Formats: sequence, C-alpha cells, structure tokens
Amino acid sequence: MTTGENHATVVGSGPNGLLAAITLARAGLDVTVFEAAPQLGGGLRTEPLTLDGFVHDVCSAVHPLALASPAFADLDLEGRGVHWCSPEVALAHPLDGGIAAYVVRSVDRTAENLGADASAYRKLMTPLVEHGDAVVDGMLSALQIPRAPVTLARFGLSAIRSARGLARSRFVTPAARAMFGGIAAHAMLPLTDVGTAGYGLFLGLLAHHVGWPVVEGGSQVLADSLVAVLEEHGGKVVTDHEVTSLAELPPSRAVVLDLTPRQILRVADGELPHRYARSLRRFRYGPGVFKIDWALDGPVPWSAPEACRTATVHLGGTLEEMVLSESESNAGRLAERPYVLFVQPTVVDPTRAPTGKHVAWAYCHVPNGSTADRTDAIEAQVERFAPGFRDLVLARSVMNSADVERHNANYVGGDINGGAGDIRQLFTRPVVSPHPWVTPRPGLYICSSSTPPGGGVHGMCGLHAARAVLARPGARFTR
Ligand SMILES: Cc1cc2nc3c(=O)[nH]c(=O)nc-3n(C[C@H](O)[C@H](O)[C@H](O)COP(=O)(O)OP(=O)(O)OC[C@H]3O[C@@H](n4cnc5c(N)ncnc54)[C@H](O)[C@@H]3O)c2cc1C
Repeated sequence: MTTGENHATVVGSGPNGLLAAITLARAGLDVTVFEAAPQLGGGLRTEPLTLDGFVHDVCSAVHPLALASPAFADLDLEGRGVHWCSPEVALAHPLDGGIAAYVVRSVDRTAENLGADASAYRKLMTPLVEHGDAVVDGMLSALQIPRAPVTLARFGLSAIRSARGLARSRFVTPAARAMFGGIAAHAMLPLTDVGTAGYGLFLGLLAHHVGWPVVEGGSQVLADSLVAVLEEHGGKVVTDHEVTSLAELPPSRAVVLDLTPRQILRVADGELPHRYARSLRRFRYGPGVFKIDWALDGPVPWSAPEACRTATVHLGGTLEEMVLSESESNAGRLAERPYVLFVQPTVVDPTRAPTGKHVAWAYCHVPNGSTADRTDAIEAQVERFAPGFRDLVLARSVMNSADVERHNANYVGGDINGGAGDIRQLFTRPVVSPHPWVTPRPGLYICSSSTPPGGGVHGMCGLHAARAVLARPGARFTR
C-alpha cells in the first residue's frame, strides 16, 4: 500500500468517492481508492440481474443531478464514453382515466397541458428556470456563499414550504397538484414536512434546465468514465477490499471516507473524540426502498400516451394519496397503495435489452430495514395505469431494504440517500458544522451523501470533501 506525505486514501467508490479521488489526483496527490464490492461505482452499478441480454441499473438510473452538476462539468465524460439519452418527456405522472400530467423541457409547453393551472405553473417555474444555473449552483454548493443570493433567497421562500402546502396554494387542478407532489416525493419525507417543496421545485427545475436523462448502456458507463479520469491522473483503484478499520490504513496526507455515520463509527472504532462520535450516533436514517427489476417482453402498455415517451413515471395517483403513502413509510408502516417511482430506460436506450424487449425498474418507500415483500403492491400500481403490464414480465429480480443494504453497505436499512434529508439534517449532515466534510480526527474526512448536499448522483459531496483536504495542507492522517 502506498504511504506518505503526498498520498491520499479514499474508502468507497461511489460517485462521491470517485469525485473526491479525482479532485485530489488532479491536485497532484497520489490516490488509492478501496472498494468493498467486486465492481466499482457504488450507486452507479449496472448488472445482468435477470436474463441473458438484459442489463439493469441496480441503483441510480436517471441523472438530472449528474448532468447539471458543477462537479462533473469539466471532466469531459462525454469524451470518455458517456452519452446522455434524454427523453422528449422528462417525467410523466399518470392519473386514473388514462390521462397524465407531464413535464417537457419548455415551461410554456408543460404549462399548456395543465389547463386552469397553466399560468400558475408558468409563474412558479419561469423565474427559476431563467436563473437555473444560479439555483443549481446555490443548492449544490451547500454552505458556500451563493453567487446569486437574491435569486437563491427567492427560491428559498417557496422551497421552505411543504410540498402539499405549496401544491395546494399554487394549483387548483388535481393533475398539477399530483405532478408536483410526485416530484417532491423523491425526498422520501412526509409531503407535509417543511422544506419538501424544495425537492419538488429543484428536481422540477432540472427537468426544464437539463432534462432527466439516462446514460446509454447503463449508469455503470458513468462510473467507468469517472474511473478513467482518475486513472489518467495516476489514481489507483482496488476492488474486493473492504476496509474494516482505520488501523489498516497507512500514515498519509488524508483518508476520505465515502461512508455513512454508522459505518464510520465501526471503522473508526474508538478513534473519534467522544462528543463527535456521540453526534454521529444521533444521525438519523430515513425510510428504505423495496425495488424490482423486470425483463419485459415489450413496451409498457400505459393508458396515457405521454407515459410511453419518457424514462421516468411517477405512480402515486393524487396528491392526497401520495401524502398518505409517504407519511406511512415515514411512520414505520407499509402503505396500502404506495407511491412508486418507475423507470423504463429502454424507451430512450434500446441497447439494454434484445430487440423489441425492454427493461424497467421500480421502487417504493418502506420503513427502514423492512423485509416485507412489496412486489404485489408495486405491480398493482403499475397495472392501475398500464393494464396488461404483468403479462409482459419475462423475469423479475427483487430486493427488500435489507437486500439493498447487503448490495451496498451505505444504504443503511435501505435508505438510499445516506440519511434523512429533512430540514434539520439536509445541510447539517452528519453533524452541525461549517465544514461537515472534516472530522476532528486529523487527516480524516467524509465525502459520502451523508454530507451536504445529500443524496443523488452529483459528486458534489466528494468535491467539497476534497477541497477541504486541499485547504488543510498541514493536516496529516498519522497513527
Ligand atoms: C435503488 C436506487 C435508486 C436510485 N436512483 C437514483 C437516481 O435515479 N438518480 C440519482 O441521482 N440517485 C439515485 N439513487 C441515489 C444514488 O445512487 C446515491 O445517492 C449515490 O450513489 C450516493 O453516492 P455515494 O458516493 O455517497 O455512495 P455510494 O454510491 O453508495 O457508494 C459507496 C461505496 O462505498 C463502498 N463501501 C461501503 N463500505 C465500504 C468499506 N467498508 N470499504 C470499502 N468500500 C466500502 C460501497 O460498496 C459503495 O461502492 C438511487 C439509489 C438507489 C439505491
């Protein structure tokens, strides 16, 4: 193992670990990444989960955050094999009766389909989209002084509200209310919680700003392109190597952990100051997910035609249904009719399945750690809006929230965001600090989604952590 003043170790090769490693390697450090799994990429892995010729994104699939992220912007990922496949419709939200609300790149064209809510939608989204770069920069830069404080303050005034409150006060039609609620429900929080409107606004803005693309060939292509950048700068990656203790790691300039608090407490094993360790123990995880991957005999027979033209479909019915479903999973109960996030990448990327066949995945939110089987509940929601779907299923692979954690130890209890992203913990993760990427143990840093700006594939946690390392040239990880 390389050791020394100019060496840095990164534990975990998720997008944040890779971005931390790339940033340090580009600054001239000699970087090694250790990954527990046989395959690199963490939440970006793509695997043949069902039948020959079908490939599936095990975790993330839809990448508005990656495409908009300043962390990825100057890496020329496109030059290293990443081709973004953006559907014409960024997302669709079917409703009973064969209709759907949907978002396309143009705010005006999206508004036109919202009937009585057309002008309310324009009024809400147009100022955000006009200042899209500033809002994205402000949200992902987390805790830095924003470049456009006035724009961000304006965004904050609406974002601080609950998704339900904002949808009900701005919109009158069930379709517009449901569409906004479906986007905000990505937060995995009760839609009555303060701040959940921010998720709806930010992810909705991204649909107009960059679209909601998938990566041709699967998210693994994104991970592989990041690894290629790292290796070009001299970085090394070691797979099948689970780091179980900091004691294994040699003295170096920095150790950067792409891990969540529960794992950090385990590997640090008594090496962290008592008060800091106590704060990490108080860190809260959110609900888990139950996920299904399908190999399908043909395209999904959605009743609403717009749902056939997108990769992302939100299946939650009305706003009030989703309010109930999300409050149930957050209260430790199983929702009878869960909000289902459905992704059909082969609509825009046919390379993932044999000709004429398709792949799809879906998950619903469940209580953290739940081992309940939600296959029927999820498929009933799909059938509700796409009758005949079950007849197309050639094979399925399911993961309850314990399986999700087995696949990737960062998904504690199936929580895919590295901890609850509510208003109390979004920017104060994992502890309250102006520099949450820095631990009190000299030379030890955290870069996972348990730091700001939180979950999703944007690499910004990794970028912030690496910058914190570079801003502390005197710090050392010693034994
Ligand atoms: C089902 C699902 C769907 C999702 N969909 C999307 C989506 O469509 N779009 C989106 O933007 N985000 C999505 N996400 C969230 C996204 O994948 C994560 O937020 C993101 O991957 C977090 O990146 P990270 O680098 O912090 O951690 P991770 O990507 O989780 O990577 C952590 C890495 O550390 C490794 N590791 C853990 N412990 C050790 C150890 N002790 N030693 C060595 N290595 C270790 C793990 O094996 C893993 O490779 C989804 C997640 C899931 C599970």
